[in-house]
Amino acid sequence: MLIRVLGSAAGGGFPQWNCGCPNCLGVRRGTIRARPRTQESVAVSADGDSWFLLNASPEIRQQLESFSKLHPRSPRDTPIQGIVLTNGDLDHSLGLLSLRESQPLALYATARVRSGFTEGNVLYRTLQRFDGQVSWHELSLAGDAKTLNLLGGAPSGLTLRAFAIPGKAALHLDQSHPEAGDNIGILIGDTRTGKSLAYMPAAGASSAEVVTAAAEADAVFFDGTFWSSDELIALGASKSRAEDMAHWPIGGTQGSLRFLAQWSQARRVYIHINNSNPILQEDSVERAAVHAAGVEVAFDGMELEL
Ligand SMILES: [Zn+2]
Repeated sequence: MLIRVLGSAAGGGFPQWNCGCPNCLGVRRGTIRARPRTQESVAVSADGDSWFLLNASPEIRQQLESFSKLHPRSPRDTPIQGIVLTNGDLDHSLGLLSLRESQPLALYATARVRSGFTEGNVLYRTLQRFDGQVSWHELSLAGDAKTLNLLGGAPSGLTLRAFAIPGKAALHLDQSHPEAGDNIGILIGDTRTGKSLAYMPAAGASSAEVVTAAAEADAVFFDGTFWSSDELIALGASKSRAEDMAHWPIGGTQGSLRFLAQWSQARRVYIHINNSNPILQEDSVERAAVHAAGVEVAFDGMELEL
């Protein structure tokens, strides 16, 4: 399985347009050791020719152009065979509206994420301009891995299993009646090599299903949004703690780094990194702590082969 990180930042990207925090200022001015990042999205493939996207970021056009394997091979074409949504956040779904140029799309999501995107959303009509423009494949949270098929119907060589992760519905949706399908992780398997990727870009906490996926996978991509609970409060940028936003902070005795450190059978990679996070600075003590635990920090253009 080939894995290509198209974007590694949390919502807003790095730097964020309206943010003057030390990280964003520093990366704009070139005064810190850090590289800009677009919003989280990953491409996976069994054969290097047919690809599936995990999430569709607002920067999808730039991200697809950045990777030649995703370029069209004829006047109207795309190697993209499907797009999997892990939740309904705008940084994960807004890019779908940018793929409106009369191209059939196969979208994989829970019923909850699908309805959050399609209901009451007049802009969704741009993806309903002809029959078959979008085909939805509902992800259920019970059961075994399912074959991911190419648009033509043949097996892609990849399988997908979805599972619930502690989290929240997107901010712009009704959050008063949470459901398990609001936020999921996925396990992508390669039928030829038997290797698998556990993709969990938003996790509010651990759970039995998070543990099972991390223990099983050969690569674990995990929620790297915040280093500490009060990161945004300390900057004066928000009144919310990381946990209020359903993100498990990396640092501290209860942090996700301690959790990830134990799964040494897997490549472990933090992704969905908020611009306030000190691990973005390559010479920070927080980055050093991540590396010391055997965990990597995703960057745009990062590639793994399992
Ligand atoms: Zn910032």
